[in-house]
Amino acid sequence: LNCSQLLDLADKALYAAKETGRNKVIKWGQDGKTSSTDDNVVINLNERKVESSDVATSDQVQISLLQSKVEELQNKLSESSEDSLNEQTRNIDPITKLPSQLIFIDRVDQAIAYSVRNKNILAVAILNIDKFSRINETMGREVGDELLREVGHRLKEILRHSDTVASMMSPGQSGPLFSRLKDDEFALLLTGMEDLESLTYIIKRIQDKFEGNVEVSGNDVYLTTSIGVAIYPQDGDTAEILIESSSRAKKQAKTLEGRNNYQFYSDIDNQMIMDQMQNEIDLRNAIESHQFVLHYQPKLNLKTGCITSTEALIRWEHPTKGMMYPDSFIPVAEKTGMIMEIGRWCLASVCKQTKLWVEMGAKDLRTSVNVSAQEFSSSDFKHNVLSALKENDLDASHLEIEITESTIIADQDVAHHLIDELRFMGITITLDDFGTGYSSLSYFGNLELDWLKLDRSFLLKAMGNYRSRNIYSSIVKMVHATGVKVVSEGVETQEQYDYINDLNIDEVQGYFIAKPGDADAMTDLLFPDLNKKYNT
Ligand code: C2E
Ligand code: CA
Ligand code: CA
Repeated sequence: LNCSQLLDLADKALYAAKETGRNKVIKWGQDGKTSSTDDNVVINLNERKVESSDVATSDQVQISLLQSKVEELQNKLSESSEDSLNEQTRNIDPITKLPSQLIFIDRVDQAIAYSVRNKNILAVAILNIDKFSRINETMGREVGDELLREVGHRLKEILRHSDTVASMMSPGQSGPLFSRLKDDEFALLLTGMEDLESLTYIIKRIQDKFEGNVEVSGNDVYLTTSIGVAIYPQDGDTAEILIESSSRAKKQAKTLEGRNNYQFYSDIDNQMIMDQMQNEIDLRNAIESHQFVLHYQPKLNLKTGCITSTEALIRWEHPTKGMMYPDSFIPVAEKTGMIMEIGRWCLASVCKQTKLWVEMGAKDLRTSVNVSAQEFSSSDFKHNVLSALKENDLDASHLEIEITESTIIADQDVAHHLIDELRFMGITITLDDFGTGYSSLSYFGNLELDWLKLDRSFLLKAMGNYRSRNIYSSIVKMVHATGVKVVSEGVETQEQYDYINDLNIDEVQGYFIAKPGDADAMTDLLFPDLNKKYNT
């Protein structure tokens, strides 16, 4: 029997069961034989026994078969309603309630078909929130999700009210189409513009209107975006390819200086992409070829006027490109896992150099190493630190480790435990980059730290206006109240130095004191008399 025949028989049986009274099961046999009610079987479910005396055992088998068929049909029914639910979730992004990627692709393909008859420009733009992963890491996923919803609202508002985008109607749509593809990537279908200038103008308008503060979970977050744009057909002739091209353009936009950048796929300098790939290959050779060097930048103790600490900052002496700075290769090293080897090299080199300085007479000197989140959370980290100290016979009190908030947030329990262990060994722990956006003082309740480093951007803000200046000085007071010392980074001018000095800050670092220099330059700073001796 097929499904509809079975349903038909079940329907007839149901009718007969209703006639017979409540809680009855009627089995309706097949074909001609069954039309007679004599053949019907009546089961009273209350009594759970077969009433009809002439029910043969084979009938009982048939009944249970029928019951299992009924169950099967019921399952099919519930499966199909689940399917339609899945269908809905496939079409709508659960977080932002925007159309899903599936719908977006479908609409772009429709728009492509339409634009073949129409001369207007069709473009796909991918919009990405700058520093979103950092918000997710430091404030948690829930806040991240809330921000995504806010971004969805903001996009809706911009696109709904903007006169400039009124012309951007996708075919059969009541407004421009946008969607969340994944993570913090939003996609926009831009149609109806007559020329490239109009398209560029719209992209800039969207970006400008997007920029600004947004409140999530009681925090003010300053939003900027990176946008990549791909145009049909030159950058792709299907929705998927256009999305891929605009995503590449967006990645490129992110590498440009500053924030709030946009990039057209057609303008991507392919040479740059090739360079990035070459960079990765070169980085693999850099360690064996001894191309890394450490530069050192002093931290000046404001109470004693002495250099009490120095920070090791890595440089890559590239054989053809010259001196390269960490921001250009540390992210690649982190992405490829090479950071682990680089990190071990840094620790070993710092310990070796510091041992020399200590032996030369810098008895209280600390040297700090910047440690990436990936290194810090690796199970080898503690062992690497211990062996670097041991191999160079350096006391742990000379080693300082600089970590950032995101390192702690990534796995708070593990980080807390490791910080405790390292401090127990005598190593100094500094929380770096404090004040870069999402800093929270909540750590101080349950985290034992030695130093907090206030970021350069925070100082710049403080110099800019009275309110930020008050925040800066209040944080110094609060941190001091918890017994943690404060170092101020990026001090470049006399005015900044004087301000820092008045705040009772413990150490100061920046170009105003000294720029990072090689180990010899640091030796000169640590032992000025040594030079005089040589010179005379
Ligand atoms: P960071 O730890 O915040 O280091 C401070 C950066 O600011 C350094 O840049 C330093 O040269 C620069 N700087 C210092 N004083 C001033 C100033 O007065 N004005 C200005 N404008 N800049 C100043 P650098 O050396 O390019 O390092 C950039 C970042 O790379 C560092 O930021 C750190 O996060 C990372 N880094 C450096 N060395 C290492 C390393 O060995 N391992 C890891 N994982 N990261 C490193
Ligand atoms: Ca640092
Ligand atoms: Ca910093």
